[in-house]
Amino acid sequence: MKKVLVTRQLPQPAIDLLKQYFEVDLYTENRVIPREELLRRVEDKDGLLCLLTDNIDAELMDKAKNLKIVANYAVGYNNIDVAEATKRKIPVTNTPGVLTETTADLAFALLMSVARRIVESDKFLREGKFKGWAPMLFLGNDIYGKTLGIIGFGRIGQAVAKRGLGFDMKILYYDTNRVSVEIEQKYNATFKSLDELLKESDFISIHVPLVKETYHLISDREFSLMKPTAYLINTSRGPVVDEKALVRALKDKKIAGAALDVFEKEPEVEPELIDMPNTVLVPHIGSATIETRTKMALMAAENIIAVLVHNKVPPNIVNPEIYK
Ligand code: NAD
Repeated sequence: MKKVLVTRQLPQPAIDLLKQYFEVDLYTENRVIPREELLRRVEDKDGLLCLLTDNIDAELMDKAKNLKIVANYAVGYNNIDVAEATKRKIPVTNTPGVLTETTADLAFALLMSVARRIVESDKFLREGKFKGWAPMLFLGNDIYGKTLGIIGFGRIGQAVAKRGLGFDMKILYYDTNRVSVEIEQKYNATFKSLDELLKESDFISIHVPLVKETYHLISDREFSLMKPTAYLINTSRGPVVDEKALVRALKDKKIAGAALDVFEKEPEVEPELIDMPNTVLVPHIGSATIETRTKMALMAAENIIAVLVHNKVPPNIVNPEIYK
C-alpha cells in the first residue's frame, strides 16, 4: 500500500477518503509539524499533503526519495520550492477556486470592520464604557460609494469587486494581466497603474500571490502615494506588505487604518500594530469556514489519488510542464 503523510489534522472526510487508498501517517499534534519530524516522517512516503506553514524545499525532496506528489492545502504555494520539484518531476498541486468566495468574504469583513471601527467599539462596550448613544461616538468612514482599489484581479480580487459593486463602490484594479473587456464590464472595473490606484483609492485590497515580484510590493513609497483617509486590507500573503513601513505609515498618519489577515513573519506580528486602535488583526483565517476547509481538504486528497492511484495528471497541478 502506498504511503501518504498528512502534516496536520484536516477535516475528517478527506482523511477518510485517503484511508480508502493509502496507509495514512497523520501528524496529530495541534501545532506545525517540527522540521526534524517532517523530514523523518516524509522519508518513506509516496505522497505528501502539506500546509502553507510547511517549508517544502530541496532538503526535504532529497530525503523523500519515493515522493511522487506534493499536494498543498492552500491556493498559494510560496511555501514550496516548485522549481526544485519540477526539476525532480514531482507534481505540485494547490486548491484554487473553492476558497475564492470565502476569502473574499473575509476581505470585505475586514474592510467593513476597520472602516466602521467594529473591533474597537466592541472592546469599548465589553469594557463597560458604553454610557448611551452619543453623537461623536466611534465615527468611522463610509464604505458605500467609495473607491475600492484591488491589487491582483484574479479569482479572489474579482470576488471582492463583486462585493464592492453591491456597495455602489467605484472599482479600480491593477494586475500584471489586464482582464478582458467583458470582465471589466461585469465588475464595472477600471484598469489603473499601481501608482494611480494607490493615489485614487479609499480602500486598497491586496490579492496577488507571493512571488519575487510581489515581495514588499507595498512599502514606504507606496504608502506615501495613498490618501491619508485610505485603508489597506491584506488577505494575500504577509510579505507582500512591508510591515515595518506599514507601522511607519500608520504612525505618520499617511493612511487611516489597516486590516490584516496575514503577516510578514507569521505567527509574529509587529508589536506596534497590536497597540494601534486603527488596525484589525486576525490570525490568517481567510479560508477558515467548515465548508471551504472541507472542500480544500478533499481537493488536496483527490490530487493525491489522481497521481498515486490513477497515474493521471492531477487536476490542480501548478507545474504541468513536468508532463511535457
Ligand atoms: P489568482 O491566481 O486567481 O489571482 C492572482 C492575481 O494576481 C492574478 O490575476 C495575477 O495576474 C496577479 N498577479 C500576479 N503577480 C502580480 C504582480 N506582480 N503584480 C500584480 N498582479 C499580479 O489567485 P487567487 O485564487 O485570487 O489567490 C490570490 C492569493 O491570495 C493566493 O496566491 C494566496 O496567496 C492568497 N490567499 C490567501 C488566503 C488567506 O487565507 N488569507 C486564502 C486564499 C488565497
